[in-house]
Amino acid sequence: MSGAIQPRPAPARAGLSIVVPIYNEAAGLARLHADLAEVARNLGSRRALNCEVVYVDDGSEDETLAVARALPPAGLDVQVVSLSRNFGKEAALLAGLDHARLGAVVFMDGDGQHPPALIETLVAHWLDDDCDVVYTAKAHRANESVTRRIAIKAFYLLLNWGARSKIPEDAGDFRLLSPRAASALRQLPERNRFFKGLASWIGFRQKRIDYEPAPRSGGRSTWNFRSLMGLSLNGLTAFSVAPLRVATMLGLLLAALALLYGVEIVYETVVYGESVPGYPSVFVGVMVLGGVQLIMLGVLGEYIGKILFEIKGRPVYFVAEHELKHDVKSDTKSDVTMPDAAE
Ligand code: UDP
Ligand code: MG
Repeated sequence: MSGAIQPRPAPARAGLSIVVPIYNEAAGLARLHADLAEVARNLGSRRALNCEVVYVDDGSEDETLAVARALPPAGLDVQVVSLSRNFGKEAALLAGLDHARLGAVVFMDGDGQHPPALIETLVAHWLDDDCDVVYTAKAHRANESVTRRIAIKAFYLLLNWGARSKIPEDAGDFRLLSPRAASALRQLPERNRFFKGLASWIGFRQKRIDYEPAPRSGGRSTWNFRSLMGLSLNGLTAFSVAPLRVATMLGLLLAALALLYGVEIVYETVVYGESVPGYPSVFVGVMVLGGVQLIMLGVLGEYIGKILFEIKGRPVYFVAEHELKHDVKSDTKSDVTMPDAAE
């Protein structure tokens, strides 16, 4: 199966699917799974909810896949979807969403930064307060550098500029979607996915929860300055036309300034008979205009690239292997291994 464009069928059974993208997370996976199993048992006894976890191995280079496959389906069903290569977290999230079978969906990282115990709080807001999208946000960014915080502020300012639905600043990928919100997300056809944006764009009743992310349990973050820049650019151009609008505004501003300057030159020549010294001002003008035009061409190029990417219509990911293990207690069926070609 692949990230096909047609609406995906709604899941049959009611319950909660926990989607966890994993990329080189072998070290902390067993621990995470034990915590999730405990959460699932609690949800089973207190809320009568069926749970499953969908691990999406995003082409890990270490033994993550082997570790994931050995995890016991105790207290919850376990799916292991392994992608044919590293497609990136957004693609892995979509693969997880496509394979989730139980109505509501929780997305969380596999590096231990998202506390599994918080899932019960998310579920409480979903079931007791009728919220559809319960998203978590970092309580504060005190431990992050000033430049990073400024960059993030600027990013969201641009992203939300003139937008009808604002994407909340600081919101993370750790969130719960009710069955109808999950099915809305499944209907979005775009390939270039900016998950945080989409989950907010669909609307319904959204609820924010503040939490303190834990340090990584092992391994290291795959994000560096370059990939974060890439994600931001992607998110921006996939989600808003603000950069194009900036181009228009800048063009207008420069044209207005040039006009004023031109009027001044004419005025001085006519009234005072002074001839304005030419070379430096012409040079500066040419440089500024040239620079601005190149930047704006680049911005246009970003959007054209996006369009090309979308019309090519390639699947977002390919599944190499898919395994579903039923919970030993809730289901007597033996382990099933589904080759994806047959799906
Ligand atoms: N991840 C993934 N594919 C990638 C990179 C990351 O599936 O190409 C997963 C990773 O295993 C983790 C989650 O995405 O579960 C978040 O990644 P990371 O911790 O590196 O990001 P950060 O927490 O620093 O934003
Ligand atoms: Mg992390």
